Amino acid sequence: MNKILIINQSVIDSILSYAKMAYPKESILMLQGKTTKKNIEINEVIIPPFATHGQGFSSFSPFMLPISFSIVGVAHSHPSGVLEPSTYDLNHVYGKFMVIVAYPFETEDNIAVFNKDGKSIQYEIAEDS
Ligand SMILES: [Zn+2]
Repeated sequence: MNKILIINQSVIDSILSYAKMAYPKESILMLQGKTTKKNIEINEVIIPPFATHGQGFSSFSPFMLPISFSIVGVAHSHPSGVLEPSTYDLNHVYGKFMVIVAYPFETEDNIAVFNKDGKSIQYEIAEDS
């Protein structure tokens, strides 16, 4: 994939604060974005409807997603602090990217993006326009 992945600052902030809020449970956020010729830009997070029940990523099912949204990936937290996808995660990638945020959820250093093969992907952070 040669496109540049851009994540808006507000999305980074939401991922961090939502993970903190859910801790010690896992949090899940769906990532909404737009794809252009050069970029994939993640500009919005959506709290999945079932997240309020306090369930983690292991109970995540794409069939629960509203189909009209342009979901480019899913972010979930690792309260354990491990900034790597688990085997389970890699077998359940939805969209183009998997974003993992690891404890202590303080800065973007606690956030990593992976593709379907579990390869780490570089991204840029954009100020909101
Ligand atoms: Zn995970």
